[in-house]
Amino acid sequence: MQPEYFGNADACGTLCWNFNQEGFEGRVRRYRLTKQAGIVFVLCLILCVVIASILFVRNMAANQSQQQQQSISPVFTLVEEQLIAPLHIAKTLGTIGIYDEFFASDTPDESQVVAALQNYAKLFNLEFYLAHEGSRKQYNSDGTVFDLIPGEVYWYFDFKDRPLDVQAVLGKQADVHLYIDVRQTGINGEFRGFAGVGKGLGEFLQAFEQFRQKYGHEFVFANNRGEIVLSSRHELLPENLEFKSLSQLSWYAQFEQLANTSEDRSHLVNSSGGDLLISEFTLESLDWRLFIVTPLAPRQHAASKAFMLYALLTMIGLIVLFKLIQKILSLYYQQLSNRINIDPLTNLPNRSQLEQYFAQIRPDCREIALIVVDIDNFKQINDTYGHNAGDQVLLNITRLFSENMQAEGLFGRWGGEEFLFILPEANHQHAMEVATRCCVALQHHSTELPKSRVRVTASFGVSHSRRSDDGLSLLFEQADQAMYQAKRNGRNQVVSANINSRSDGSRSDG
Ligand code: GH3
Ligand code: MG
Ligand code: MG
Repeated sequence: MQPEYFGNADACGTLCWNFNQEGFEGRVRRYRLTKQAGIVFVLCLILCVVIASILFVRNMAANQSQQQQQSISPVFTLVEEQLIAPLHIAKTLGTIGIYDEFFASDTPDESQVVAALQNYAKLFNLEFYLAHEGSRKQYNSDGTVFDLIPGEVYWYFDFKDRPLDVQAVLGKQADVHLYIDVRQTGINGEFRGFAGVGKGLGEFLQAFEQFRQKYGHEFVFANNRGEIVLSSRHELLPENLEFKSLSQLSWYAQFEQLANTSEDRSHLVNSSGGDLLISEFTLESLDWRLFIVTPLAPRQHAASKAFMLYALLTMIGLIVLFKLIQKILSLYYQQLSNRINIDPLTNLPNRSQLEQYFAQIRPDCREIALIVVDIDNFKQINDTYGHNAGDQVLLNITRLFSENMQAEGLFGRWGGEEFLFILPEANHQHAMEVATRCCVALQHHSTELPKSRVRVTASFGVSHSRRSDDGLSLLFEQADQAMYQAKRNGRNQVVSANINSRSDGSRSDG
């Protein structure tokens, strides 16, 4: 693996450290950070799904309750208005004796009867009628009178034989009506006929149809014999007093079974068309049962869709947040890494980074060369021109060496006025060439200071190795010794640690 350090020449012409290629240890650190961030991310994701679920369930529960309230309360208002109220009126008027004078006679005055019925019809906005046994006629508030003939008016002869005081029944298939018949008897209990109240249920059924469309509820009213007397499903309505039975409904057996094992009157039933929620209510005054049937499939579908949307939005939010935090952390990490690994004066990689770099590239290098550089008599520069001038000279040297190194390997500041070149895959000759090139370039270079021009030279020590187990400290020690040899030899020259070869700037130049 060839490490990818890059020679990004900045304003000073130095080689800058690429944050993304921060060395082996840095990568390990980053890998650990990424792994930790991954775990944090997964935990956050789980947390988000949990939060989304809680929020969703809370919302869902509130929605459901609201829908339930919105849909159920008007049903009872309607039942009260359309069914119970006419029943009470029929019962009351049928039992307080207002029709007694008509029933006492076998030939009541037709116009008087009709006028009285019309009067009540106006008053209560209902249809009134009397089925009169004595005259075998039916008088109606719409002004009609017809004969009660067996085989034609079969409800009359049917009810007549039943020992019930009040009977509620539906009639008129095309325009469904509720008829409530109150049995009339004489002093000795003899049957005299029925006083009836009729109520058109078109409005009622229409309202139920609207509920069905809005909330998906189906309504089934059944009498005490389990016969379906009224339903929002037209095919369940009775035809010519022929009732459909509750037991014909696919869900009824299952519902009864569940209702027998619990006090609850609301149960979830699985039918072939999907789950059904069925609630049963008793209408005592009519002795009817009302079943509200809610197919759950559309709601379940809507709920799943809403949940998916919730979870998706939460996840997107989390991913965006995570990416944002990651970006901020990465910028922060980059700044921190720069601060740790970059020399603040020269912007060059510092000693720590040089060490990391060596450790990273060494295992993959067949050969490697090091050049240690120490500026000659640099203390004099400081002493003569001051430390700021010294800094300026250091910056100039930095730029010059970086240019001459031609972006191979890594060049950094080891400390003070000492620099180190690390040249992976460089043979000895090439390292000597680089060192000599820098030595000569420096010799010809001068730094412009406010009042003068300063020239400096440097001593170079070169070490080279083809042994993979030669570490940085050994190679540095060799190059350092060579550099000191260069000092002893008179400075401004390159000395190799390996073959004791020596090359000085003046000679190369010459
Ligand atoms: P030699 O040729 O033997 O290396 O002589 P020298 O004067 O360079 O060696 P010495 O070690 O005595 O002095 C090194 C000087 O480098 C001392 C120190 O003040 C100076 N120096 C180190 N770092 C900096 C820096 O960042 N800025 C400045 N201006 N001077 C520095
Ligand atoms: Mg020194
Ligand atoms: Mg020095």
